[in-house]
Amino acid sequence: MTVMQEVVVPSADADWELRDTEVPEPGPGQVLIRVHACGICGTDVWLTEAKLSFGPFPLFPGHEGVGEVVAVGAGVTSRAVGDRVGICTLQRGCGHCAWCTRAEPLDFVTAANCPNAVVTGMTARGAHADYLAVPDSATVLLPDGLSYELAAPVLCVGYTAWAGLRRADPRPGDRIAVSGIGGLGHLAVQYAKAAGFKTVAITRSEDKRRLALDLGANVVVGSGEELRAAGGADVLLATNNSNAAVVDAMQGVNPRGRVVLMGIAFDEFTVTTMPVVMNSLKILGSAHNGTQYLVEALELAAAGKVIPMVEVYGKDRIADAYRRAAEGKARFRAVVSYA
Ligand SMILES: [Zn+2]
Ligand SMILES: [Zn+2]
Repeated sequence: MTVMQEVVVPSADADWELRDTEVPEPGPGQVLIRVHACGICGTDVWLTEAKLSFGPFPLFPGHEGVGEVVAVGAGVTSRAVGDRVGICTLQRGCGHCAWCTRAEPLDFVTAANCPNAVVTGMTARGAHADYLAVPDSATVLLPDGLSYELAAPVLCVGYTAWAGLRRADPRPGDRIAVSGIGGLGHLAVQYAKAAGFKTVAITRSEDKRRLALDLGANVVVGSGEELRAAGGADVLLATNNSNAAVVDAMQGVNPRGRVVLMGIAFDEFTVTTMPVVMNSLKILGSAHNGTQYLVEALELAAAGKVIPMVEVYGKDRIADAYRRAAEGKARFRAVVSYA
């Protein structure tokens, strides 16, 4: 047997650790990927802390994996050895439950609604490993010129940011506000700017005000009231881990504006209905929404218009990398190199 290393979380709240295991064989319809990098997502933290669960421990995390195809299984024609690929979070649904029969795009809504969805790093083996075998259809080709370390965060958090903006269906000339400047928000600012929108960052943190301007924000404000005074926003991309901050930011949303909830906060989301009704606001959830948005997000990163800020760790420092991410200290994405 050929030995490789993979990350395992043995039980809830345990440290991430490496263990030796066998390199998988690609089955029919699968590709074997030599993983080069994988990011650590907020979702990984919730899974580790058992705030979110898709099954019993041990957990084999990692859904921001990118690498190179090194072998293909029987019947694979869409991928070849040497292809640089990103590994999709949603590999497939069961195909025959009430959700799957709707034949909707594969995205996180499938994970939430199909009882037997195959989800990388959640219900299936994850990409925090030297090698991973997945269906060829659960990969996207990486554009040329995009490094593995910068591609990895796009697979989930960049995809989330871009898909959230697309979900709002912005019109030319719309003003886009981003509340919360963290892993998701620092990318949402860049994606909104890259798409040509006037972009307002909302943060209360002094050190992030300067950063938001460097990332391309036209204006930085500290609250919804300040947002309104600065001309408001037609779209609010809410990336906070506090819903109270989102509700505050909504004070600056223009009539007929759209509020896109794309971060996950665990406090209650409580709004007064009157201003929402009187201003005909839309409040939308957003969860990846289809692989075409992942491809668009990767293209913008490859063009250098969006540059994820990453901290790269060798796999031998996996426990440190996880702690940094879990404590919210990574600026802004901890990415683990398996090269
Ligand atoms: Zn299903
Ligand atoms: Zn994620």
